[in-house]
Amino acid sequence: MGAAAIDLRVEDGVIAEIATGLAAGPEVAAEDGDGQLLLPGFVDAHMHLDKTFWGLPWRPHQAGPLTIDKIETERRLRRELDISPEDQAIKLMRQAIGKGTTHIRCHVDIDTEIGLANLEGVMAARERLKDRLTMQLVAFPQSGMLVSPGAAELMDAAVEMGAELVGGIDPSIIERDPVGHLDGIFAIAERHGAGVDIHLHEPGALGGFAIELIAERTRALGMGGKVTVSHAFCLGMVDRPTFETLAGLLAVNGISIMTHAPGHVAFPPIKPLREAGVMVCSGSDNIRDSWGPYGNADMLERAMLLGYRSNYRLDPDIETALDVTTFGGATVMGAEGYGLKVGCHADFVVVPGDALAEAVVNRPPRSLVVKGGVVVARNGTCLV
Ligand SMILES: [Zn+2]
Repeated sequence: MGAAAIDLRVEDGVIAEIATGLAAGPEVAAEDGDGQLLLPGFVDAHMHLDKTFWGLPWRPHQAGPLTIDKIETERRLRRELDISPEDQAIKLMRQAIGKGTTHIRCHVDIDTEIGLANLEGVMAARERLKDRLTMQLVAFPQSGMLVSPGAAELMDAAVEMGAELVGGIDPSIIERDPVGHLDGIFAIAERHGAGVDIHLHEPGALGGFAIELIAERTRALGMGGKVTVSHAFCLGMVDRPTFETLAGLLAVNGISIMTHAPGHVAFPPIKPLREAGVMVCSGSDNIRDSWGPYGNADMLERAMLLGYRSNYRLDPDIETALDVTTFGGATVMGAEGYGLKVGCHADFVVVPGDALAEAVVNRPPRSLVVKGGVVVARNGTCLV
């Protein structure tokens, strides 16, 4: 069982050498991997750090079943609770680090009630842990942009302030104007040279129409490789010929898909998308917030959920789920120097087990998490 044990030498935060039988001199800090598995750092490519109740007393779920119920409940609770986005972000970032996450793409709410306050908070948190996590921020119009006068100007200001991507939300169901919404967010992205990452929950043909509009704008602006559609439930709902047409549009235009393998709805089929040439990443999405009580920022568990919901039983299929939560996310984020080769950043995780699929199924505590050559978590506990 298992591959031969190897040693890594890390220098200046980079993997400098991979060999067997490397000896650490007295001046070099050594860690004994004890023959465990070595994985690249996990990439959580869809979080909402500013919303979470993580670390606060348990709060029973209150929102009704519709998206608009959740938006309204969140706005009410935000006023009542007055929690700090910066403090909450830090708590969840530490949880993620303890689980082996080294890269995060975080959507941050921008609306006319809170303005840029959540973005300021998450940016402050990002700065505090900047050497311990690589983070991208998406300016996210959770309450809509066209339906909320002033929101588009705030979105523009958010990207000016430091968000790397422009978010979007259900252009027909929430915004009632798919062309207007998508023209609006792509215009902001073009103005700032930013990427785009759109929440698209719209079902079936309606969602497929939104993907066609997104592909048109991506092509027109030459934004291939910089656009992600998050959720895209429609890809799991449409018939096979329609799926193949949409997957082809995504692939040819360099548009990636984020799925977190939701429990309540159809979701994009991972292997057919990858076979069509579409990059697929994953993320935690909402974690213990007004949108829902679940989640723990564990991307190894997310890989298990991707595999479980996809009915993956063979080791190579389960490894595909793990690849989505590592290299898939790193590619979508454009993370340079990611991986386990010489010259890559020393961002990695050590877990017990003989096989990658076993690690996904068991989700054991992370023995060691290293970011930039520094031990940031040990035995499941974040050290920073
Ligand atoms: Zn989300």
